[in-house]
Amino acid sequence: MTSPVSTNIVDSIAIITMDKPPVNGLGHALRSGLLDAFQAATENSAVDAMVITSAGKLFCGGADITEFGSPAAGAEPSLPTLVNLIEESAKPVVAAINGMALGGGLELALACDYRFALPSVKIGLPEVKLGILPGAGGTQRLPRLAGVKFSLELITSGAPVNASKALQAGAIDQIHTKESPFLDAAIAYTKELLAKQSPVRSCATLSVDTSDIEEGYFDNFRKSIARRNRGLIAAEHCIQAVEAACELPLKEGLKKEGELFEILVNSYQSRSQRHLFFAERAATKIPGVDPRTPLRSINKVAIIGSGTMGGGIAMNFLNAGISTVLLDLNAEALERGVGVIRKNYEISAKKGRLSEAQVEERMALLQQTTSYDDIKDVDLVIEAVFENMEIKKSVFKTLDEVCKPGAILASNTSTLDVDEIAAVTKRPEDVIGLHFFSPANVMRLLEIVRGAKTADDALLTTVKIAQAIGKVPVVVGVCFGFVGNRMLEPYGREASRLLLEGATPAQIDRVLTEFGMAMGYCSMIDLAGIDVGYLTRQGNLENIAHDPSYSKLSDKLYALDRYGQKTGRGHYLYEGREQKEDPEVLEIAIATAAELNIERREISDQEIVERTIYTMINEGAQILDEGIASRSSDCDLVYTNGYGFPIGRGGPMQFADESGLDVILKRMNHYRTSLGEYGEMWFKPAPLLEKLVAEGQEFSQYVPNQS
Ligand code: NAD
Repeated sequence: MTSPVSTNIVDSIAIITMDKPPVNGLGHALRSGLLDAFQAATENSAVDAMVITSAGKLFCGGADITEFGSPAAGAEPSLPTLVNLIEESAKPVVAAINGMALGGGLELALACDYRFALPSVKIGLPEVKLGILPGAGGTQRLPRLAGVKFSLELITSGAPVNASKALQAGAIDQIHTKESPFLDAAIAYTKELLAKQSPVRSCATLSVDTSDIEEGYFDNFRKSIARRNRGLIAAEHCIQAVEAACELPLKEGLKKEGELFEILVNSYQSRSQRHLFFAERAATKIPGVDPRTPLRSINKVAIIGSGTMGGGIAMNFLNAGISTVLLDLNAEALERGVGVIRKNYEISAKKGRLSEAQVEERMALLQQTTSYDDIKDVDLVIEAVFENMEIKKSVFKTLDEVCKPGAILASNTSTLDVDEIAAVTKRPEDVIGLHFFSPANVMRLLEIVRGAKTADDALLTTVKIAQAIGKVPVVVGVCFGFVGNRMLEPYGREASRLLLEGATPAQIDRVLTEFGMAMGYCSMIDLAGIDVGYLTRQGNLENIAHDPSYSKLSDKLYALDRYGQKTGRGHYLYEGREQKEDPEVLEIAIATAAELNIERREISDQEIVERTIYTMINEGAQILDEGIASRSSDCDLVYTNGYGFPIGRGGPMQFADESGLDVILKRMNHYRTSLGEYGEMWFKPAPLLEKLVAEGQEFSQYVPNQS
């Protein structure tokens, strides 16, 4: 097997080149290759200095995370062993950073004596996003070179920075400016260092400059990032590691970093975050669709309906530089929609996130119209008119008449049958569901609904365009509510029923937010609109009408015009955004329970979690069994990106795997018996859940039959 590392000696400088496509992942093979090349150069008396660089576009993308949890991850030379050896080298080592240096790749560069970089490179330590910390010296060396403030931000945010910022902070020593090729310039730079007899510059001899760190700085920093962390522990461990860098000599600091790394890498949260990382990659592989299928080109898009969703959807395409036509039959609604888009951009400009020129560039890509004649030449249409089958059918009939052949015709419907919509056109193979979430310009989730006749190239094209506009696409099948809203149904049904059995909205919301949900169920429904929920239920009566208690409290609130935040009253009272408990809701709950002969009792927090989350998981099992989702991790992506499910738990299906499917099954059966007739109605375990428990399998191992 050829080594992924080659050495070329130019004058007295050994050029050590990493060549492990696609990203120079620091798996065992690359680490071994680097070690061998480095040791050979060290022992070669004709070599005075080393330059480490890459043959690819990236310098190095970091550790190979597919190795995590396998023996290869710890196999020597481990990354810490390798970088420590490089640092201790008696001959100077220069990192010639010719592309992105991320994670372990940056740690490798930090262990070198000097860093010479192309002006276009970015450096970053994204480990925190996987629930870990840079464990090969990043938390100890970066503060020594670039100070505490720069390091804390880079390490706890996981976001990369460009070369000029890195240079300013001291993380890079020199940027390539000369006209000569980069590698020649790196060699010249190394020769200059040798000529000036610049000392080898080990971080072991440096201490962290804390002169700009005021009293209480670390605690204030902790507070400032608490909100963006939402209970994730990795950032706190990163902070502790940087604090250690300030207090301890390098060797001891590295030991502390290693201990903190071990805690994180073995944590449930990190397993969950890594699960979601791989889930995103798996989601774009569609069973039965050849990934080499030629794509359709999308250069111009039309959105039909300029309401809440239409405007937000349009912004995604404008942000990506794609020409967009916004069509609404109601001229006033159209003006309003365009006005909201401009206002949103201007707010971003005020916050410094966009320049005025960028606002105008984006608005210039937007064309508004009330005429279908103006969308004849578009490549993709997304319909976002009222949620009404007859209206949608009439829109699709028109689209079929006016749109050019090969245009993809998509509906943003939340619940309606995409196949029924497709059937009114002469080209059902071009019809698909694109279910955006509100606010559509912010939420990352996009459910792509594959109709019975949707063509493979149309499907694959929408997956690619979703990625191009920064969404997380998840392909789902046709059913009421698709994956997200269908799994939400039992969750909401149980929360609502528990209000009749004795829980209060405040208790339900407290328990669910303590579990990690971004918002409690009652607050969420008050925000989304109790009226919206009521209308959705009217479209699903055949599945719920047999239960007289089904969302009965919500129905009562609806009848009292208590629609939630928009009317100032729902499950709570609202003054502006301030939420207060309302004794009247308790009275309504007590009266409704009496009407339905439901005995009220004290409800434990455990019962709230089990009845809402376990039934959601049970529905997920049913969805998998029906092939509506292709893999359990797709359900997890839907829930963590669209419904505020805690990232640290990896999504409902991953949470179930961690909890043990036998536990979920046991508790489903417990409630099936203990809740009497109601339990028999709603707590039947999904056959797939029973099957997996019997076979000792997990959801993550289940591969649906794709025939
Ligand atoms: P909305 O009422 O805010 O906007 C609908 C717009 O469509 C209005 O401006 C109306 O004038 C226009 N319209 C109606 N009939 C039309 C026609 N025949 N041709 C052109 N324009 C027409 O509705 P919304 O909340 O934006 O929802 C739109 C769609 O998105 C619905 O299918 C809804 O289920 C779905 N959806 C909504 C949300 C949400 O949270 N609001 C989330 C996901 C999906």
